[in-house]
Amino acid sequence: MRIVLIRRLQRLFFFISLLLSAGVVYLAAQSVGASLSRSVELPIFITPTPEWDTVALISGHAGFDSGAVCGEDASPTLQEVDVVARIAELVGGRLADMGMAVLLLDEYDPRLTNLDTDLLLSLHADSCIPVSGYKATYPANSAIPETEERLVACIDVHYAAQTGLAFHPNSITHNMTHYHAFRKVLPSTPTAILEMGFLGGDKQLLVEEPERVATGIVESILCFLYGRE
Ligand SMILES: [Zn+2]
Repeated sequence: MRIVLIRRLQRLFFFISLLLSAGVVYLAAQSVGASLSRSVELPIFITPTPEWDTVALISGHAGFDSGAVCGEDASPTLQEVDVVARIAELVGGRLADMGMAVLLLDEYDPRLTNLDTDLLLSLHADSCIPVSGYKATYPANSAIPETEERLVACIDVHYAAQTGLAFHPNSITHNMTHYHAFRKVLPSTPTAILEMGFLGGDKQLLVEEPERVATGIVESILCFLYGRE
């Protein structure tokens, strides 16, 4: 009688342990499966993150000349190179804060040769005449006209909205569409040149409100890189 009981108990324990080990195997398989599917999912980020992007900015005339110079002998002169540098540094700082790699380049920076970035934007300001407006253009002989057209379209929306400046027509020169840097970078690097306003008519904005100008440029860049409206 006792032996029968013991055998039953043994059988019972055997089944219990069988169930337990089956449970353990099941749970282990689950966790392996989960970690497998997790490791498969990892690289699939649909939304690009800023740390993958490299943006190059040319601080117009930097390391070369003063650009446009305004002012009478008596008053302090206003130099394009200084006005632009201040804004370019603000833009670069904001993009870097977002996690982007930023190259702040001189006008004839050697790094322009075969530059391979997600964007190259050259920043300039126009002459001292009492006229207002910005203008942006991409290379006349662009290898990626649709992409660069989109870049200029982003500027036309966001830069104009932030600064309140109107596009200044009929003053996009050969110097702009055949800008020296356009020929140096890789054809796959989207490029544009932005004349942010006139040192004459837009002096107030360019000199007193560089943060606002920088915001217009940053938003244009975000629009281009991430399709932000
Ligand atoms: Zn210039």
